[in-house]
Amino acid sequence: MRFGDYADPVVTLAEDVVNSYRHSVGVDDLSPAVLTSLARARGWTGADASPADVVAVRSLRSPLRAVFEAHSVAAANELVASSGLVPELVEHDGLSWHLHLTGAVALPAWVAGQAAFALLAVVEQGGVSRLHRCAGPDCHAVFVDLSRNQSRVFCSPAVCGNRVHVKAHRARKVVSPRSRGSA
Ligand SMILES: [Zn+2]
Ligand SMILES: [Zn+2]
Repeated sequence: MRFGDYADPVVTLAEDVVNSYRHSVGVDDLSPAVLTSLARARGWTGADASPADVVAVRSLRSPLRAVFEAHSVAAANELVASSGLVPELVEHDGLSWHLHLTGAVALPAWVAGQAAFALLAVVEQGGVSRLHRCAGPDCHAVFVDLSRNQSRVFCSPAVCGNRVHVKAHRARKVVSPRSRGSA
């Protein structure tokens, strides 16, 4: 199994767009500079992002989140269909033939199409069970689980995994004197 086009950096574009709004602190990290660099890292060669592009890409978070949380393949199909991009079979960087989306469209449409198409490739080759919302408390981050045994449950083991660990540790500390007393 090749795991679709997982070797392509575009696979993480959707999660970067969704996670650029950090629910836990209510901070929106998306700016023209951030959006430009997110897109360039995935092969965007057009103009730098404008403030209007940022507004348009923010509106993609809701349908993209639906793909991760509700496993809405329809939402991803819709984003691809409305992007104006078209499929092209390519071979590059040692990967076997696979589909890309290409075409001259505005940046928000390009991001919508590329991000959704990559999620469709994940679903096609790896199943919807690879699309997740982080299991961390109050964490709204989403991610594609690319691990071989599909064992990932946190956006970041160092942050959310650790938070859960600390919480469990505190809970044990609270419980143990009481359980000793009742024994
Ligand atoms: Zn590729
Ligand atoms: Zn998390």
